[in-house]
Amino acid sequence: MTSTAPKHHKARAIKPGSVRPAKELCSECGLCDTYYIHYVKEACAFINQQIPELEIQSHGRDRQLDNEDELYFGVHQEMMAARKLEPIEGAQWTGIVSTIAIEMLTQGKVEGVVCVQNTPEDRFQPMPVIARTPEEILAARVNKPTLSPNLSILEQVEQSGMKRLLAIGVGCQIQALRAVEKELGLEKLYVLGTPCVDNVTRAGLQKFLETTSRSPETVVHYEFMQDFRVHFKHEDGSTETVPFFGLKTNQLKDVFAPSCMTCFDYVNSLADLVVGYMGAPFGWQWIVVRNDTGKEMLDLAMEQLETQPVMSKGDRRQAVQQSIPAYDQGVTLPMWAAKLMGVVIEKIGPKGLEYARFSIDSHFTRNYLYTKRNYPQKLEQHVPEFAKKIVDQYQLPEN
Ligand code: FAD
Ligand code: SF4
Repeated sequence: MTSTAPKHHKARAIKPGSVRPAKELCSECGLCDTYYIHYVKEACAFINQQIPELEIQSHGRDRQLDNEDELYFGVHQEMMAARKLEPIEGAQWTGIVSTIAIEMLTQGKVEGVVCVQNTPEDRFQPMPVIARTPEEILAARVNKPTLSPNLSILEQVEQSGMKRLLAIGVGCQIQALRAVEKELGLEKLYVLGTPCVDNVTRAGLQKFLETTSRSPETVVHYEFMQDFRVHFKHEDGSTETVPFFGLKTNQLKDVFAPSCMTCFDYVNSLADLVVGYMGAPFGWQWIVVRNDTGKEMLDLAMEQLETQPVMSKGDRRQAVQQSIPAYDQGVTLPMWAAKLMGVVIEKIGPKGLEYARFSIDSHFTRNYLYTKRNYPQKLEQHVPEFAKKIVDQYQLPEN
């Protein structure tokens, strides 16, 4: 008799602590903690980059490379700046992600939401869950600024018999999820993504906090913001700001995970809806609706939001070109000069979508060089065409 069980049921999750198929490039997305490891060679974002193919699967087409907004921000129908009329206390920004997830659940669109809470002992240690109540979604608010194995709950999804699911996640998690989507036995998968860049392991996070913040142990939240400063929020409610240009780049060079140094999916190309901040004015969030499913999700929260059109101001190119050798040489400015530079750049620097392009350009050029130097054999297949086109605008060092 032949078995009708899916092929992956025979596979076994990798043992905790053992080397993953992507080796040091593994972003700990969680896929290999499940029997879906069966598909890893095809699904892993760091083994098999397949963004255009998965864009066609998810949005019906891949991005138009000659349309500048699509080249940078991926397939989309609509972009806007938005903020919650009543922000959620303790959310990363105003809590649009948590709000949409709660509406999806309470209005019966889905039976569960993949999101990431923290462990009881450590506010920055990620603990992925399938939330089934608004309270469980709220308990996952705020970024866990560390690699998070969100897909480690995939076996539970199949075993629970759930048919309608919302997954929240960053680009590498979503790429692997899209690649195995058809194997999950779902009727409908909704994907709510955030942009993501420069993530770290839990140990790397500690080093970053210790080299950058005045009080590492009381940080509850931080973000690299559009005013060219890192904003740390502390337990007592106080805010500390450190200019980007004053970061100890020589000490921090190795802090980012190798996966993130080779990532070109900053804008989460495969989510139905993306909620970040970098294309919006300071204090606002930035929303990218990629397809009709994304629109359906956003509509549920629209009446709780204030919105405005996206804007763009300034010219990023020179600043990006100058950032390339500065990063390479690990330049750190004295704090007074860094503050001054921060103030000047904030006044005359890129704003709105141009700020987002500044951030994408500086990360893609850096990551292209990193990939070329450390994984030359991967360069051609791993770097998507859109990223090559973006990087080609700049002069990079030969080696
Ligand atoms: P909240 O309502 O507070 O909800 C946050 C959601 O994020 C929760 O549902 C939680 O499940 C999920 N989450 C938390 N940590 C992780 C994690 N490690 N992996 C996957 N999911 C997680 N936006 C930009 O515009 N530019 C950036 O450079 C940028 N970098 C980011 C880096 C990281 C590591 C992360 C997680 C997010 C980043 N974002 C970035 C997105 C941005 O910081 C906010 O998360 C987003 O705007 C949503 O804010 P919110 O208040 O609506 O979210
Ligand atoms: Fe497996 Fe994910 Fe690591 Fe790739 S990134 S090796 S899919 S856990």
